[in-house]
Amino acid sequence: MNVIVVGGGLAGLTAAKVLRERGARVRVLEQRAEVGGRVRTRDIDGFRVDLGFQVLFTAYPAVRRHVDFAALDLVAIPPGAVIRKPGGADRMGDPVRDAAVLLDTLSASSLHFSDKVRVARLALQLKVPPAHSLLYGSEESTLDFLRRQGFSYASIDAFFGPFFGGIFLKRDLSPSAGLFRYYFRMLTDGEAAVPKLGMGELPKQLARGTDVRTNVRVTRLDAAANGVRVQTSNGVEEASHVIVAASPPEIRRLTAADVPSTPVSSTYLYYGASVQLDDETRLQLGTSGGLINNALWSSNTNAALAPRHAHLLSVTVLGDPPLDDKALDHGVRAELSRWYGPDEVAKLRLLSLDRVRFAQFAQPPGFERTLAGHATPWPNVLIASEGTSMSSIQGAMESGEKAAAILLGDVEAMSRPRGA
Ligand SMILES: Cc1cc2nc3c(=O)[nH]c(=O)nc-3n(C[C@H](O)[C@H](O)[C@H](O)COP(=O)(O)OP(=O)(O)OC[C@H]3O[C@@H](n4cnc5c(N)ncnc54)[C@H](O)[C@@H]3O)c2cc1C
Repeated sequence: MNVIVVGGGLAGLTAAKVLRERGARVRVLEQRAEVGGRVRTRDIDGFRVDLGFQVLFTAYPAVRRHVDFAALDLVAIPPGAVIRKPGGADRMGDPVRDAAVLLDTLSASSLHFSDKVRVARLALQLKVPPAHSLLYGSEESTLDFLRRQGFSYASIDAFFGPFFGGIFLKRDLSPSAGLFRYYFRMLTDGEAAVPKLGMGELPKQLARGTDVRTNVRVTRLDAAANGVRVQTSNGVEEASHVIVAASPPEIRRLTAADVPSTPVSSTYLYYGASVQLDDETRLQLGTSGGLINNALWSSNTNAALAPRHAHLLSVTVLGDPPLDDKALDHGVRAELSRWYGPDEVAKLRLLSLDRVRFAQFAQPPGFERTLAGHATPWPNVLIASEGTSMSSIQGAMESGEKAAAILLGDVEAMSRPRGA
């Protein structure tokens, strides 16, 4: 078997890793100068800046099968959150990840007592079934599910909206309740962590030992019974099999497969400071109606992300606001001024502003029915993509595993349920 994998994101790299480990000849063609796709880290003036704020859930099953956590030197983001509100902030422990910290949380006035009890009860309920089974069941939005559980609008507005909105990239909690239940469980089973040198270390680790050719864009596939001709920006290559692991819109273009590709966008601003404005280590949640959904002083838990004596703040603005970069920076600073005062905020230097137009694909209730399979019109061309599972690190990696398993005839791995 001589396999070409198109795309060096998490799905493609995982497929290539599995194939390589099982003795197949495999090479990855990646259009960019580096691997990682949507998971990359840049060095900006000595700051390690991720391309968008994202975290690794250590409980993701596919991640556990393929990632060496010790080598990544993972740094956990402390549980809990700070709920910013007009005139102050509520600091809360994390009943999601640890029902035992409920007492700490009780002092936070943003959540009613009954909501705190419900969070703890939900954590216990969702702990029982196999995690992947939580993806299935009622076809409702996260918002409807939370309302059905009896949570108050106040708790949804102040906590669930921004906290889970930061994961789904939708503060309105319109995504499927199955995803909410799954992520909730991932948070109770493990940690939300970031490699010491940034999220880009994850794809770099997966790529180690694999033949990856960067700066090679695949422009067209022509499949025949005896193999596949792969036209690239560098000429034509031949393979017995091809796994297309590009982003969903590009998979559609190359294979005509119906991969979900309605984009969910998000915008990220990273600031550097030479003085510490805040020693808070928890995720900070912005008020509804504002620009800031969540913010984190990343260097407070992971000093390696900033140069010596410097500090790194990441700010997430959901969607793609209709403001130019200057106005957006200005608007975010105005909100940060309410937290820290304008004199302190003037000390922040904007390091990067990224509008990620295709961060995830839309996952409303029932999105499962729109997922792609691994097959294409050609028997020797397969798909590996989050678009076969869910828009997440788990979804991308399990899809890569399954595409490889199909080529290898590994029945056990190919029949693993979604999310397992
Ligand atoms: C800002 C942001 C925040 C996120 N937060 C989280 C989070 O906290 N937790 C979580 O689990 N998930 C999160 N996600 C989702 C997760 O990162 C993605 O689901 C996952 O990385 C998708 O991987 P992929 O390999 O399927 O696709 P991609 O990462 O899109 O990889 C596709 C690769 O194919 C390459 N390519 C495309 N076309 C061609 C071509 N023609 N020729 C050669 N190469 C090509 C691309 O350059 C790219 O490298 C987030 C995503 C973003 C962007």
